[in-house]
Formats: sequence, structure tokens, C-alpha cells
Amino acid sequence: MAATKRIYMDHAAGRAVDPRVIESMLPYMRSLYANPSSVHSFGQEARQALEEARANVAELISAERKESIIFTSGATESNNAAIKGAAYRNKDRGTHIITSSIEHMSVLNPCKFLTTRGFKVTFLPVDQYGFVNLKSLEEELTDETILVSIMYANGEIGTMQPIKEISQIVHSKNAYLHVDATAANGQVPIDVKNEGIDLLTISSNDMYGPKGVGALYVKEGMRIEPIIYGGGQERGLRSGTEDIPGIVGFGKAAEIAKKEIQTESERLIKLRDKLIKGLLAPIPYSFLNGHPNKRLPNNVAVRYSFIEGEAMLLSLDMMGVAASSGSACTAKTLEPSHVLRAIGLKHEEAHGSLLFTLGKQNTEEEVDHVISMMPDIVKKLRAMSPLTPKDLK
Ligand code: PMP
Repeated sequence: MAATKRIYMDHAAGRAVDPRVIESMLPYMRSLYANPSSVHSFGQEARQALEEARANVAELISAERKESIIFTSGATESNNAAIKGAAYRNKDRGTHIITSSIEHMSVLNPCKFLTTRGFKVTFLPVDQYGFVNLKSLEEELTDETILVSIMYANGEIGTMQPIKEISQIVHSKNAYLHVDATAANGQVPIDVKNEGIDLLTISSNDMYGPKGVGALYVKEGMRIEPIIYGGGQERGLRSGTEDIPGIVGFGKAAEIAKKEIQTESERLIKLRDKLIKGLLAPIPYSFLNGHPNKRLPNNVAVRYSFIEGEAMLLSLDMMGVAASSGSACTAKTLEPSHVLRAIGLKHEEAHGSLLFTLGKQNTEEEVDHVISMMPDIVKKLRAMSPLTPKDLK
């Protein structure tokens, strides 16, 4: 059956670039193409655009100064730069790092790598909602701990961590706090000063900017070792000629997000809660993943017993709806997501998960449409499932 209407609800994996962002980028591909490190006036125009974008990104996260923003190629690079950079630079102070078991692979894997270079890493467990246990964080911190890396929000289950409380605990033991805010930036206001963040990862596409651009906020006075060496751009912390069109787009996206974050997140929360209710209430053996309200405004993560997320995804896709069964980054493996396992779901429970992530283009009508198709999809798949109890067949 060919779908008549296409509905995109996979914004955690990729977003459309805002038309205002595209417009802002075009001059820097057409005519303002010079290198910002060049001394001539062409170069200086590019430099000015670069610094304006830096100021916009700094303002979005309430950074103390624009120089604290280092542009990178995206969240994965920022996370690597933060974790490896802070570890190498502070090795003489200690070799212990703490992170959580539900971080993105671009945090978990650099941490695992560091264990092969003389560092010790503690992976904190989380509760059924995905909250880091603050008591275990306190207990695990020692004089040897140099860095704690905890995400602002988890893209797969939506749970938002109490970053300010975490930062107070981390700083009471003189360690640094890195926060991966990739899933949260542009959706909820972030204030690095008020929340006590030393290193913050953000990315452009997650707020309707172009892909392949991100930033690392490095608090004034915080020292990290570069992971990329070269011509010394970005205060020597990230060499390589800056991607001016991409960065200009990122800056524009940050400027727009700052203005629109409040109204858009209020709108999304209404749609989110309607979709959650509509996907769960009419269907027995259905559950919410993550916390009911301490969750990202756009995140709808549900699970249905006795069926596979992949089968639901295919059915939805045939009906024109794009959703996800978890993180797009790990979608190639058949293993259930480490996040769903960490919140205590059994293999088969995790496999029945479905993730809808809303965005600017989604309307209430689309939400209603998705709600109306789900009971039939679940019923059909359960009818074929050997696991379904008799009363549901
Ligand atoms: N951190 C988090 C929390 C993410 O959700 C993602 C994926 N969007 C990343 C890091 C990696 O982002 P990218 O693949 O754009 O580098």
C-alpha cells in the first residue's frame, strides 16, 4: 500500500535545515569564500562572519565570552576532544574518569579507549528512568578523578539529568564536568555558567543548522590537550581551516533557537504528551520509556510487549511515517540498545521499543494520524507473534 501522506518523526537522527539558515549560508559559498586566516580584506570578511557566529553560539548557552566556543565537525568530535583532551592534559592530577552507562557511543568509546592508555573509567548505573544515581556519583569520586562526563539529555529515552546538582557534586571534589548536550541543545535553555559546566558539546543539525558542524564550549581557564594538530586555528585547540558556510549557518541556527526556544518547546510538549497518551491508552501492554515529564520536549519513546520495534518501523514506513527503534548511530547492530538495557529492560522488552522525535514541521494533525494507525499495526503484528498471550490474539 503506497502512503499518501509522509510524516517525518525522526528528528533525533536528522533535521531539515531552516530556510533562514540556508539563506545565511549562501553568500559564503558564492562570493565570500576567503580563508578567515588571510590578512586581506576578503579574509577579514570571513573572519568577521566566523566571530559573529561564535558570539551567537556563545550567547545561546550563556557562555562568559565568545572565545570559549571552539568549532568542530560535530558532536562526535567535540566529545572526543573534551574527553581525550581533558584526560591527557590533566593526567598529572589523576587518571580516573566517571561517566554514565547511557551516554552516546561518542562518549563511551573514547572513555573505553582511554582505559588502554592508563586511565581508569567508572560507568555509573542509572535508574529505571535513566537518572544517574547522585549518591553513587558521590561515592565514586576520589582525589584521582579528573573528569566526569554526563549527558544533558538522552535522545533515546528523553530523560534530562539534574546537571546543576551533578556539577555541585563534581566540583566539590575538584573534578571537571563535561556535558554532552547534543540531544538537548536548541530544545531547552542551557546556561553553562549557572549550571556549572566546564566543557559542553553541542551540534548544529540538532537545532536546524547544517550537518557536519558542532562546537565544544571550554570554560575560561580550563585546559585541554588538542586532539587535532596543525595550523593552530580555534585557539590551537582544533586546527584546520574553518568551514565558514557551515559555521555561519550554525550561528544563524543558534540565533533563531535563542528567540524561538520557549514557544516552540511549549508547542512540542503539548504534541509530545498527546502522542504519548494516544499511543499508550488504547493499546494494552504498552509502556513509556524514560520519565513522564523530566524529558525532552520532542521525545516520545514507547514500547509494546510481544512485538519487534523493527517490524513496527517497517509497517509505519509503508504508511509513510518515519520513526526509529532507537539511536540511529547504533541502528546497524541487532543488539538491543545499551540505553534500554541500562534502564533495566530485558532483551525482549527493549526490542519492542519505538522512538518518535518531533520537530518544527510536525503538526497536531500528523500526531492524530499516527495515533490513529498504531492500534491496527500492533494488533496485526501481535496476531503473528508466538509470544502474545491468548487473550490478545
Ligand atoms: N551525542 C548524543 C547525545 C547524540 O544523540 C548524538 C547523535 N545525534 C551524538 C552525540 C553524535 O552526533 P554526531 O553523529 O552528529 O557526531
